[in-house]
Amino acid sequence: MNYIPENIVSEIRNAADIVDIVSDMVILKKAGKNYQGLCPFHSEKTPSFSVSPEKQIFYCFGCGSGGNVFSFLMKHEGMSFPEAVRTLAGRVGIEVPTRDLTPEEKQRFSEREGLFDLNRRAMAYFQHMLWKSRAGEPARAYLERRGIKPAVAETFGLGYAPKGWDHLIRSFSKKKIDPAFLEKAGLTVPRKSGRGFIDRFRDRLMFPIRDIRRQVIGFGGRVMDEGLPKYLNSPETPVFSKSRTLYGVDTARAKARETRQMYLAEGYFDVISLYQAGITNAVATLGTALTREHVRLLRGHAGEATLVFDSDQAGVRAAVRSVDIFRKENMDARILVLPEGHDPDTYILEFGAEAFQGVARKARSVMDFMMEDAVKRHGLSIEGKVRIISELTGPLGTIEDPVARSLYVRKLAERMGVDEAMIMDKVRVAPVGQPEKRAQSEIKPASFQGRRKRLEKKLVTMMLQFPEILPEVADREVIDRFEDPSLKSIGQSLVYRYRDYRGGRISELIDSVDEAHRAVAANLAITGEEWTREGCLNLIAQFETGQKRGSQDLLQRIEAASRDNDQALLMKLLKEKQNQARQRHNKT
Ligand SMILES: [Zn+2]
Repeated sequence: MNYIPENIVSEIRNAADIVDIVSDMVILKKAGKNYQGLCPFHSEKTPSFSVSPEKQIFYCFGCGSGGNVFSFLMKHEGMSFPEAVRTLAGRVGIEVPTRDLTPEEKQRFSEREGLFDLNRRAMAYFQHMLWKSRAGEPARAYLERRGIKPAVAETFGLGYAPKGWDHLIRSFSKKKIDPAFLEKAGLTVPRKSGRGFIDRFRDRLMFPIRDIRRQVIGFGGRVMDEGLPKYLNSPETPVFSKSRTLYGVDTARAKARETRQMYLAEGYFDVISLYQAGITNAVATLGTALTREHVRLLRGHAGEATLVFDSDQAGVRAAVRSVDIFRKENMDARILVLPEGHDPDTYILEFGAEAFQGVARKARSVMDFMMEDAVKRHGLSIEGKVRIISELTGPLGTIEDPVARSLYVRKLAERMGVDEAMIMDKVRVAPVGQPEKRAQSEIKPASFQGRRKRLEKKLVTMMLQFPEILPEVADREVIDRFEDPSLKSIGQSLVYRYRDYRGGRISELIDSVDEAHRAVAANLAITGEEWTREGCLNLIAQFETGQKRGSQDLLQRIEAASRDNDQALLMKLLKEKQNQARQRHNKT
């Protein structure tokens, strides 16, 4: 992992601001010295995710994820360390030499970058075909029919993939681009019979799909007649994953941050029509069902989502499914089901933007939507009402705000014509403020038990927060006497790396810690403590006295065991003593 020169890694780490990077994906609010937000790694309603601008680290008290800016990118984007370093390098404008990479590493890096570059060139090619070629005439007419203005089409980078089997391949082979690499980007497919490739997208209107950094990661292609499939998307590639991507996030982001609202629509054209109507904070999933990951992405840009669905059967079913996912992810949502036979695109075309905003204001809350949907399905017969009530008591119990909960209970009681108290009785209130814990292999603070471990923990905190003390810790061989394996590993890495401490930030110290223990280190480092050299020396002394007392205890216990003639215990204690002696011996 040292093939990117250490001084360059360090330069990048110092130039990048973790608050800035995390803000791309999480809404952060200042809280004291730190920033807080909803964790992107687990579902929660009250923020337990902290970022320290001073220490340049993050830690989530809900799920125990933590680290520095590199760890954040690795976890959030599924990157390797070198990938995270290179991504940040690009962002802060520092060049990373590739000469130190092995051929395989070079290939992996250049593959990602190559795919972005290739997609960008493909986008330019499709744009050229749409606006500048005779072949693009029907596509231009099609956009006009659908009422999309050229300026908006350009904002979204729309293009056209011409009719025929290999226009893109031929155009790109003139630029010496290998068809096999085009296949890797999902732009071509192998011929069914014989060798070679054909273009994946043929005679389709092209929608480039961009990430938050406006890099083109894939494409959606739509037929302009009744052909099938209506939409064709790029396959999953090293830079494109449908379940982690929202169409339009690059254009929607600014307004969503400003208004705390995001519209979630069903298709590419919905997003574009909404944008053209002045509702620029709209995104869509890529023709796949909504996932929890999508909701987590959304939560990074807005506090509430308005889900826009067609009123047809499939639309309502999708709404019901999505509502459930929003509930599980603890994100507020409102549901807008458009009048019969309309999607946002056709609605705006027919009635205009203002009318759309009018119905959007009347979007129902999740509970209202679920209630109406249940009534529609079960009817208001006695059996129907029984079913409705039993179906809704679970979701009602998950409403955290007791006022909101009791208002909904009253509403349901009135609608069903039963006593409010009866429904309240059935609503079992879910425990509040308990973030869903994720399995973590790292040691959690709760498991540090006993005085000794507390001391070890405090010593490591000290080393992270007051690294000037590291040479002293090294000289007195404090870490060698640690018992907790995770703390020992962190302590050893720090001492090993900073025996000759010459300055460095906490975020840098964390990189020298083994990856498996980085979150624990971030946890210890992020709490605010003031250290002085004197305080540190006291703490070390306290640890050393504790140790001595421990060995005296052992001697007394050995005496007692031999007095009681407890051979088994005696053997055990003697072995312990041997170990201690060996440890002491190794040190001298
Ligand atoms: Zn978390």
